[in-house]
Order: sequence, then structure tokens, then C-alpha cells
Amino acid sequence: MFQRTHVCDVQIESVSDASRLLDLGGLAVDRVASDAFGGRVVHVVTADETASACPSCGVLSVSLKGRACTRPRDIPYGTRGLRLIWHKRRWRCRERLCPRASFTESLPAVRRRSRQTTRLRTELGYAIAEQGRIVSESAAHYGVDWSIVHAAFAAHVAGPLAAPLPPVKVLGIDETRRGRPVFAQDPDTKRWVLVADRWHTGFVDAAGTGGLLAQVEGRTSAATIAWLNAQPASWRAGITHVTTDLSASYAKAVRVALPDAVLVADRFHLVQLANKMVTDVRQRVIRQTQGRRGRKSDPAWAWPGRRGADC
Ligand SMILES: [Zn+2]
Repeated sequence: MFQRTHVCDVQIESVSDASRLLDLGGLAVDRVASDAFGGRVVHVVTADETASACPSCGVLSVSLKGRACTRPRDIPYGTRGLRLIWHKRRWRCRERLCPRASFTESLPAVRRRSRQTTRLRTELGYAIAEQGRIVSESAAHYGVDWSIVHAAFAAHVAGPLAAPLPPVKVLGIDETRRGRPVFAQDPDTKRWVLVADRWHTGFVDAAGTGGLLAQVEGRTSAATIAWLNAQPASWRAGITHVTTDLSASYAKAVRVALPDAVLVADRFHLVQLANKMVTDVRQRVIRQTQGRRGRKSDPAWAWPGRRGADC
């Protein structure tokens, strides 16, 4: 059942089937048109009087100033394109003490100044954080800019990141290569300085879930110490052991920031180092005894563990 009303004039009094199908809280479907490319254009109007509440003082306004159209992008619906056009109203705030003269309508479903529906932002954040999808791929799928997806992801993880760290007994520290370094020229000195390091340092719960606790830019002892010192003293006191690769930077950071913890070389790097030594010895022995590089047929290289030597 669909009540025909002229766009913007009045609020739709009952929820139409089309509005129920769209299911965007506070918005009612006025009509659905087709665009030149076979897509659907859904014209919606406000169906929630709280949208006319002044964002500064909260008082509902009845003084209509004008109308405006916005085109918030929504989640995909069907295989053909669907675009929304919200015919919203602009109101005057008549409260004497309120600093705001006028405002346009906004709803929880489409926040003020947002060019996406709230549910699209939620879905974008979920796609990256929970489904492990790639930012650029999601941006193309949902038809939004890369920066929108990134912002939605950041908003999605803001809550969990703000939560206190879980207690950790064995802290793992290791480096991650994130991409190319980025340099920028200092306007005063004209010297090029590093603004985005190609290396990040990851902190994990090595004996518990193995989950990532934090990732900070850089792999220097200063960057590592800064993060460790920023954590509560009670949390740091709970750490009994720290596993790292064999880098001097991390060893120094642990000695400075976690002086009571036992430093342990993590098993991956220890095995990697042992494998490298075995490879070096094999290569040296073959050169000494055969005067050439090793071959698969040489007994020293026939052992099945050889393949792991370089990883
Ligand atoms: Zn106001």
C-alpha cells in the first residue's frame, strides 16, 4: 500500500510497502524512477519528526526555510544500481538563545554531513575488520572512495582498540614490512624526512591467543620503548617473558622498558638461524672437498631438511 504524497510537502503518514522494503529508519519512499542506465532512483522523504530537531539546542522547529536534495549512497540492493535521493527540509531555529540560525534534517540512518547511510558505513567497516576483505576491493564493490572504506574500518575498530589490553605473560615483538617508505620535505630545512616507515613493529600475546595487541610505526628501540611505556605499569608488570627476533633494537627496548622480563629468542628465528648455519657449513664443506658448488646428488645436500635452509 502506497500513499501518494508530493515530495517534501508533508510527511507520509503510514509506512508504505516500498518504505518497508527499503527499511531506512525515518525515511519514506515517495516514488521510484528509472535512470538512463537501467538503474533505479528512489526518492525518499523524511518520515520522522525528530529530524527537525535543531542539532544545537534540540528544539523541534516548525519554521520551514527551504528544501534541499542529498544523495546518500546506500548498501547494494539487487543486481541493478539503486540510487537514493533524499528530499530533505531546511529549518530555522527560532530559539532566542540558540546560536544556530538554520539547519537541514538529519537522522540516525543518515548522519549529518554524511554522504553514506549509516548502514553502509557499518557494512564497510565489517567487511574489512571481520571478513578480511581488501579496502580497494570493497571500495570498488560498494562504489565509494578508498578513504571512505578506511574511515569506516577505523570507526569499526575504535571501540575494541580503546578497550584495556588483556593481561599478557609472554609478549611477542616482531617487525612487519608494510610497504614503501614515504618522505616529505621539511619546509624550513628543505631536507627530506621520513614520514611513513616501511617497517612496523607488532606486539602479540605469544603464549595466549597469539592475537595482535598493537602495531606501531618503525622498528627502532625508541618506537618500541614509546609504546611499552605508554601502557599501564600494572600491565607491564604482568609480563614475565618477551620473545623477539634477534635484533639488538628490540633487545635494548626490552631491557629499558621491561627490565624484569626474561628475553627469549623466538623459536622461528632460532630455527631460521640454525638452518642458516647448517647451510653455511654444507656450502663450505662442498667447496673444500669438491672445489665447486653443491649439487642435489651430493650426500651433504640429500638430507630432506635442506629445503628449509633458506626460509
Ligand atoms: Zn537551536
